[in-house]
Amino acid sequence: MKRSAYSLTSSEWKENLLNWEESSHVYPFLLDGLYKDRGIWDKHLSKNLKSKIEINYELELPTLVNLQKSQDGTTKFLVRFSDGLEVETVLIPFHKRYTVCLSSQVGCAMNCSFCYTGTQGFKRNLTSGEIVSQYLLARNWLKVHDLSSPQPSIVFMGQGEPLHNLDEVKKAILILNDSKLIGVGIRQMTLSTAGYLPGLQRIKDFPQVNFALSLHSPFQNERSKLIPINENYHLEDVMRALKDIPLLPRQFITFEYLLIKNFNMTDEHVEGLTHLLNGQKAIINLIPFNPFPNSTWERPDETEIENFKDKLVKNKLRVMLRRTKGSDILAACGQLKVEKLARTKNAGSR
Ligand code: SF4
Repeated sequence: MKRSAYSLTSSEWKENLLNWEESSHVYPFLLDGLYKDRGIWDKHLSKNLKSKIEINYELELPTLVNLQKSQDGTTKFLVRFSDGLEVETVLIPFHKRYTVCLSSQVGCAMNCSFCYTGTQGFKRNLTSGEIVSQYLLARNWLKVHDLSSPQPSIVFMGQGEPLHNLDEVKKAILILNDSKLIGVGIRQMTLSTAGYLPGLQRIKDFPQVNFALSLHSPFQNERSKLIPINENYHLEDVMRALKDIPLLPRQFITFEYLLIKNFNMTDEHVEGLTHLLNGQKAIINLIPFNPFPNSTWERPDETEIENFKDKLVKNKLRVMLRRTKGSDILAACGQLKVEKLARTKNAGSR
């Protein structure tokens, strides 16, 4: 199987030109042709160079097998790779901008109890090229359907634990950020982790993206019920590792907090959060639970949500309430799972 052309950094392309004994003058045309307009290759690259690229690299993006659109404009893509495995990628509209939610693995090994992906098990890591390709598919689709929209930002909150696939995710971030290739601002990217400590301990020289932790409870035992890896990687150690991440003056760590009825919304939780986040540059992102088929947890009502938020604000915590997007097509947080049923329509026909 050929390596994806979208898994190479700009310096790897430069090295290729050297190894192929090609003039360095074609370097910008090679990159622009790959990421902007393939016609550039016809004008500026020799036949010989084009065939070297084609022989060595896969230029096709993965297949868009299906596309679903939510009433709120959220679009969910079912993406199939060359080995037949599939992931979901979600394009989320927000105030005339879009965010692409990327998957980093096929399935996930973390098995969080609130997450539909977790019920699917782990199949394999995605390569950097497969991660970048998801972004390109979503961006290309957006170019056709909403010409005025700026380059979408990125969240690594799709299927998989990004820090469980750290090397490929890191390389994908470098490619996505490189202005010679795609050019998404580094602060336009957010990586969300369930608290996978071996990964967190390796991010010292990681690109300076925003980080988010799936927190969901300030209490060790209770959090383990939601996130089983919390038993091995204690919340206290995870918090310590997060404190070591260097932050820019106006940069914060986001703490995602699923609001689950009759579970994690008491006054003790308000106090627990206040204590846990003391001294941390933190924003709490409240996310009302999105039910999925056979889930055992329930979504709280609006009054409960507002009350809990007000109590946190009263304790001087920074809080955001994320309104659910795409829940009618199972594209909201924790709802992604590749279903056989989803493969009924051809995305290309839309
Ligand atoms: S919430 Fe994230 S880490 Fe947990 S099972 Fe789902 S995809 Fe994996």
